[in-house]
Amino acid sequence: MQKKLNIQDKLNIKLPADPIVENTRRQVKEACFSYVTPKKTAKPELLHVSGEMLDNIGLTVDDAKTKVFVDVLTGNQVLSNTNPYAMCYGGHQFGNWAGQLGDGRAINLFEVEHNNKNWAVQLKGAGATPYSRTADGLAVLRSSIREYLCSEAMHHLGVPTTRALSLSLSGDEVLRDVLYNGNPAYEKGAIVSRLAESFLRFGSYQIFAAKQDDKTLKTLVDYTINYHFKDLGKPSKKTYLVFFKTVLDRTLDMIIHWQRVGFVHGVMNTDNMSILGLTIDYGPYGWLEGYDHGWTPNTTDKQFKRYRFGAQLDIGLWNLFQLANAIYPLIGESKDLEALLNGYHKKADEKYLEMMRSKLGLMTETETDAALIFGLEEILQLTETDMTIFFRSLSQFSSNKPLKGIDVVKEAFYVMSEVTGEIKTKWEAWFQQYAKRLIEEQSSPETRKQKMNAVNPKYVLRNYMAQLAIDEANKGKYQLIDELFQLLKKPYNEQPEYQKWFVKRPEWARHKVGCSMLSCSS
Ligand code: AMP
Ligand code: MG
Repeated sequence: MQKKLNIQDKLNIKLPADPIVENTRRQVKEACFSYVTPKKTAKPELLHVSGEMLDNIGLTVDDAKTKVFVDVLTGNQVLSNTNPYAMCYGGHQFGNWAGQLGDGRAINLFEVEHNNKNWAVQLKGAGATPYSRTADGLAVLRSSIREYLCSEAMHHLGVPTTRALSLSLSGDEVLRDVLYNGNPAYEKGAIVSRLAESFLRFGSYQIFAAKQDDKTLKTLVDYTINYHFKDLGKPSKKTYLVFFKTVLDRTLDMIIHWQRVGFVHGVMNTDNMSILGLTIDYGPYGWLEGYDHGWTPNTTDKQFKRYRFGAQLDIGLWNLFQLANAIYPLIGESKDLEALLNGYHKKADEKYLEMMRSKLGLMTETETDAALIFGLEEILQLTETDMTIFFRSLSQFSSNKPLKGIDVVKEAFYVMSEVTGEIKTKWEAWFQQYAKRLIEEQSSPETRKQKMNAVNPKYVLRNYMAQLAIDEANKGKYQLIDELFQLLKKPYNEQPEYQKWFVKRPEWARHKVGCSMLSCSS
């Protein structure tokens, strides 16, 4: 395996390292990372591997069957000439500056170059690091299954994301208090290997600004531009601004995708915002079932719902403000940064409307579109209406038969009998308006249907689906992980053999832990 991997480490060569090499928990100064060796585990066992990701780094399915593969991807063996490390970063958690956080349970193994792409390979749950604070550096099977399945599913939905290569059991037991209510229990330990061009986060820059360490800040920003934003040219004050603008655009694009597919990240802290605009750190995330701007899956955020579905675009801006503050010392002038931030809302509104138009199959723009879209969002929330089923079914709507509208989307309603009286009248009026608007479109109904089905997925990783796979896995059965993995590779395809997954959330899952309630305990 070593010979096949084109290992090209950059970060741990180009950036300043923590001179202390002991694995003790501490505040790290003037360094971007600390060397650390992953923990040996009791009985490593590979549960699943992504064929596509193997291919992406130049390995084959046969390579994944070797002992060295399992050992390396569970941290039980370190390849020669590689120097694993944990990264230093800080972050705002739920709106408050939290100081140093860092990779408390992520260990970067190496970087691989293949087919002109660079991949940093990281293990999540491979043991404590200097950044583990009071925690154990481990991960449990349930959260590892959730990250493994969801990150690959997001990629296939066309959403920028970190990827996953493998899911393994460590063979160790891990103690967790799932609901933070004084009921800790042992769970199976697991390790996901995840890959991205870079795992740098907003918090990676914030930590140096907070320490007024402009020297390391500049080294890191210059490194980021030189290796990950090469098109921007040589680092300079001007380039820093274009860099910020690019991060802003990518962050915005990513969140617009989340709104399109109904994904709620759940913990949009600045340490969970990738500098490359990738969805990162799959914790208590969730998928909208009933369309609801106020929904968050994260029980830790139950009170204020800071990270609810309808707030994600605003939080993106809040986080970008923090990043702007962090890189400000390198620019020394706030005017241009402020102008970029002030332009965010206009851009977000435009992109949001454009995205929603695509969901409705509107290829042209008219002045009435915003009213049509906001009107729909309002009615969708009057009774519990499944987002995925609604938009997928909508492609069957015919502008010749507006009165059939409710019938076309009826599978999306959780309680059909609630769609009566005023609510029914509102739906009928909306469908009339939609029919009128569709007549203004040039495209044929067939083309429209195709285009709509390419942006409105038929299958997403509903919260209860992941939970079923977890429940089975906890009993030692892993087939469902593979079934969901295969299904979610083609989320826009009809896949009639998987029709059973094109259903509303079953009632048993409505209030079940893991389905509608998730905590940060993972
Ligand atoms: P998260 O909420 O997963 O983004 O994590 C926030 C911070 O807590 C990061 O610095 C993580 O590395 C750290 N962290 C979360 N879980 C653990 C754990 N089990 N052991 C060590 N650090 C952890
Ligand atoms: Mg995190």
